Amino acid sequence: MTQHLSYLVLGLGNGAVYAALGLALVLTFKSSGVVNFATGAVALYAAYTYALLRTGELMVPIPGLPATVDLGSPLAIAPAMAISLVAAGILGVLCYALVFRPLRAAPVVAKAVASIGLMIVIQAVIAQRVGTGLVSVKPIFALDTFELGDSLVPTDRVLLAVCIVGLAVVATLVFRYTRFGTATEAAAESEKGAYLTGLSPDRIAFANWALSSVVAGLGGILIAPLVALNPVAYSLFIVPALAATLVGNFASIWLTVAAGIAMGALQAEATNLQGIYDWWPRSGTAEAISLLLILIFLVVKGRPLPDRGSVIHRTLGRAPRPDHILVPVLLSFTAAVIALLATTGSYRAALVSSIVFGILGLSQVIVTGYAGQVSLAQLTLAGVSAYALSVLNQHLGIPFPVAPIMAALFATAVGVVAGLPALRIRGLPLTVVTLALAVFVEAFWFRNPELNGGVQGAPIDTPRLFGMDLGIGAGESYPRIAFGLLSLGVLTVVGLGVAWLRRSSLGTDMLAVRANERSAAAAGIDVSRTKLITFAIGAFVAGLGGALLGYQQTLATPEPYAVFLGISLFAIVYVAGITSITGGILAGVMAPGGILYLLVDRFLHVGDYYAVLSGSLLVVTVLANPDGIASKLPRIPWPEIPRRGAVGAAPAEPAVTRARGDRSEPILTVRAVSVTYGAVKAATDVTFEVCPGEIVGLIGPNGAGKTTVIDAVTGFTPATGSVTLAGRSLTERPPHVRCRAGLGRSFQDVELYDDLTVAENVRVGAARSASELPIARRVTRTLAVLGLDELADREAGVLSQGQRQLVSIARVFAAEPAVALLDEPAAGLDSDESRWLGEKLRSVADDGTGVLLVDHDMELVLTVCDRVIVLDLGKVIAAGMPEEIRANPEVLRAYLGLPADSDIPDPDAVPELHTGPLTSPEVLR
Ligand code: ATP
Repeated sequence: MTQHLSYLVLGLGNGAVYAALGLALVLTFKSSGVVNFATGAVALYAAYTYALLRTGELMVPIPGLPATVDLGSPLAIAPAMAISLVAAGILGVLCYALVFRPLRAAPVVAKAVASIGLMIVIQAVIAQRVGTGLVSVKPIFALDTFELGDSLVPTDRVLLAVCIVGLAVVATLVFRYTRFGTATEAAAESEKGAYLTGLSPDRIAFANWALSSVVAGLGGILIAPLVALNPVAYSLFIVPALAATLVGNFASIWLTVAAGIAMGALQAEATNLQGIYDWWPRSGTAEAISLLLILIFLVVKGRPLPDRGSVIHRTLGRAPRPDHILVPVLLSFTAAVIALLATTGSYRAALVSSIVFGILGLSQVIVTGYAGQVSLAQLTLAGVSAYALSVLNQHLGIPFPVAPIMAALFATAVGVVAGLPALRIRGLPLTVVTLALAVFVEAFWFRNPELNGGVQGAPIDTPRLFGMDLGIGAGESYPRIAFGLLSLGVLTVVGLGVAWLRRSSLGTDMLAVRANERSAAAAGIDVSRTKLITFAIGAFVAGLGGALLGYQQTLATPEPYAVFLGISLFAIVYVAGITSITGGILAGVMAPGGILYLLVDRFLHVGDYYAVLSGSLLVVTVLANPDGIASKLPRIPWPEIPRRGAVGAAPAEPAVTRARGDRSEPILTVRAVSVTYGAVKAATDVTFEVCPGEIVGLIGPNGAGKTTVIDAVTGFTPATGSVTLAGRSLTERPPHVRCRAGLGRSFQDVELYDDLTVAENVRVGAARSASELPIARRVTRTLAVLGLDELADREAGVLSQGQRQLVSIARVFAAEPAVALLDEPAAGLDSDESRWLGEKLRSVADDGTGVLLVDHDMELVLTVCDRVIVLDLGKVIAAGMPEEIRANPEVLRAYLGLPADSDIPDPDAVPELHTGPLTSPEVLR
């Protein structure tokens, strides 16, 4: 028992560093929304500065100047620490001033990529200045021990943890009791919030960046005597630190610090168990702790779909639809073949590397660019494939081409597992999970001597087909043209496949999921399935790239698949253009070891400065053009080939009359639906029916529960009671199944796919209908009916509010639902536009569609609806014909918030009771 305890105490050292870095991450995130991947590098910088000061030298981090200045004699602990912390603080201020302040309004992903660029720059500057060798640092705390049962445990770990906990206490007090703290908390909510406290958000951010760098630096300095200084280990501290920060939800200092310390302690215990149990894995269990902690915490807390009102940031640029690809593909293919033939030696090798990295770039385009899942594990999946290829070759004797395909399929299986957390979490937490998974796989497999083939690596056979040698060759013949052509062939097939994917309905589903998961589900898209398919396809493509990388090196070794290279690959693809095929391929050109790398190295003679330059370039590109280089490439005007079934090509048709059975028989039956949110009873025993062709109004004062009822009926919120559509029970069914069964819905906050065009938005809605009419016709007809045909090719993100409303309604009706549930479709329309919309709704209903209409525009509801249901405080308080509702005293009381026994005002007052805002007239066309 005491042995376990003493290991737990030993782990406090690392735990304290995770906690310190976690604290630093929270500070920068709160004040500027940046997930600073460079936090570990800042700690490294402070630790190196300190280590050198203690030997009497000052590191000069400016390339061109002497690397160090001799101070004559070593500095004592206190001045060395003070100077190092000031240096770290200045570094933090510079980071904010030069990089993150200009990026204030940029998407979270852009900021994260910039921080990756900074991480590369800081690491490279240190390596260029003082080398990458291990540096030992004299103890800071006295080398005492204390007894814990039978074991002697060093006190320095405990003191280190106490220091960091002390720091956390101070930080908490500052945040709770000072104006600066309140202002930082307010700035975390919104910039305006910070202004209300009387402090400028800019100053708050500057102060927090300085503070966070000092905290990270302190962690780095204090751990330096315990863990020998080395750039990679320090930078990797960021992964458990991020895990701790996630536990604290990027907000709670206490949870973050506690999680960090606990993680360090548990990691040490995992190492202890290695020595006790034979079956305990030799490698990777410490890394598994961070992964498990995040998974348990996030997946349990996560939800299959984001909650109503979750902020949806547009984080990635538009993914262009590749329409005429034949000529560019032929031209590029020919150019690449000529380049391969015309080059030899290192130039051809660099070309081959670029081709292989192009494949890996495309895998990132699929997963992140199309489906919006920011995965940092794509290069790791490539490594999984390379190692699997070795096993298939060496242990199972499976040859080319079956082996690489099987290896890629194995990577696919791992990719699907990597994608499982995405079913419950999204955005940043998902990114961190993929990173933790990559770290785990690297430690558990790639660096595990029992599994990785030892120091000489895991050998991979030369690929041969019908006796033909397709290998990279060796010696004089290296690199053989045959391998270049093989890789080019794979890249071409993958490129065409990705182009097909973007044009397919699966591709549109991915973009819909990327843009907005809730409305994707409302359009009948199975969000979970789409995400898993995305991870599977992305992993398969990464697996193909990994197998080729393995063939290129003739063996599998850990280095090419290292986690940090994976992060750099993501950053390069992002900069090249993560949403387009051109961007993916361009990333190959720019990748380390690729053709651009070689050309810069040969002709610009940057030598040691390559990493510094490439990191800086990354930052500059993100600053100058967050959408990626590919979006700025000149568009070559290839001849337009008319698309079959393109929107606008088919003539507008009159609406098809769909009599859906007996119009007096309810098609939608909702019985005793109740919803509670914590202590709030948002809906209680709500019961109603909708018949085909009937428009039923659902009204009530603000907060009455109208949206909750729509959410419950369409499956977006857990509810009790039953929902039956055309005799089929939909109770307990997920949203996309309800949609496919014929329940359409729109959202109060008009959740459109801003990256897609109007026609594509409507098309997503139309795709999953049981209607026999072809999709393109339904799209055209719906656009024409709602007067949107001229906007068909316009991106939804640029539309006016009124136009957005209409597109969201068009998306519902294009599916020809049995019943459409419309949540405030007239919000943002003026009274004329509202009336016009009412007529359109009437004509759609006349075709047989049942409509449940929630709106604050009483005039619209009372004129267009056949029946009206009134909700108040979650309960149905009245139901009847519009004229009955108009005169109902209960309704008037509810709307005016009068007590039950009060006098009733003039019923004619009701139409004026707009409880929601009716904004100024918006241009509809
Ligand atoms: P409005 O007309 O303002 O849109 P509404 O009639 O649609 O209001 P709901 O939005 O359904 O009303 O809200 C009903 C009640 O449930 C309100 O008290 C609201 O604060 C509460 N509520 C809604 N969503 C949640 C949630 N996710 N968590 C907690 N409470 C919620």
